[in-house]
Amino acid sequence: MSAELLDGKTLAGQLREELAVRASELAARVGAAPRLAIIRFDAEGPSAVYVRSVTRAAERVGVEPVVVTMQADAAQVAVAEQIEGLNRDPSVAGIVIAEPLPVGLSKTEVAVSIDPAKDVDGSGPMNAGWLARGEPRLVPATALSVMTILRRHDIQIAGRLAVVVGRSPVIGRPAAQLLIGADATVVVCHSRTRDLGVETRRAEILVVAAGRPGLIGPDMVSPGCVVVDCGINTTAAGVVGDVSFEAVRAIAAAITPVPGGVGPVTSMMVVSQTIDAAERLAALETPS
Ligand code: NDP
Repeated sequence: MSAELLDGKTLAGQLREELAVRASELAARVGAAPRLAIIRFDAEGPSAVYVRSVTRAAERVGVEPVVVTMQADAAQVAVAEQIEGLNRDPSVAGIVIAEPLPVGLSKTEVAVSIDPAKDVDGSGPMNAGWLARGEPRLVPATALSVMTILRRHDIQIAGRLAVVVGRSPVIGRPAAQLLIGADATVVVCHSRTRDLGVETRRAEILVVAAGRPGLIGPDMVSPGCVVVDCGINTTAAGVVGDVSFEAVRAIAAAITPVPGGVGPVTSMMVVSQTIDAAERLAALETPS
């Protein structure tokens, strides 16, 4: 039997409709659409796909994207000044940075500059700290996408064994923390894990974010497992995930495709958290 397809494209469409309602209600209340600033350091380079997908997601929901293109060799201080201006601008609810950053710039320092209340990709240490405490506020969008896919497909999380492959601050680590928050028992694997297959075969939920095409084959998944593949790898055969899709699909209970799984939902999560941030901002400004 073939696994249920966890179709991110269809889910992104549903989320778009729901978010559009929230965005228009908010705009009617405060008199303007929420704005999302996207800072990038190249006009046409590798950041283009990310900028395009977030911009389109925002526009279709009724959040106004503001793309700020900085010099490809911008200095740390110039980036901090740009971000400070956006932090102070009450019309801007969210700020995200499109990678790659200029050579020599510290990702952490850039993330630190963003007002935690506007850090809608949960990239800064303040939001990472809240998440680590089990009190998530704004969280990394891909990790939130994983949870949204599981929840919206009514997949039971509480009490189940979730194995996460990858421990980056962008996906693996926050996904593990969100799964703990949802009462899963969580195992986190990485490049030093002694026997990856031993761990992944125990998984009832398997989240893979390693950036290694074909890392998870059918011999590494047990029947009935729910597989969420975050990998995006460009190969001669096109864009593939970290999981051997067709072979694993024959064993798993449910699986996300790549493309069309985690990716489309991730852009919606950035927009969703921008609306969250704008609603909080509006509540602060409205005297009760
Ligand atoms: P990183 O390279 O930052 O992290 C990869 C993680 O995988 C590391 O923790 C690494 O371990 C671990 N890893 C690598 N090789 C192995 C292995 N053979 N066995 C076990 N663990 C391994 O990548 P990101 O987290 O930024 O991204 C992961 C993937 O997700 C990429 O394909 C990326 O393109 C994609 N991505 C998808 C998004 C989406 O919306 N779907 C958004 C952003 C990224 P260690 O820590 O020991 O090095």
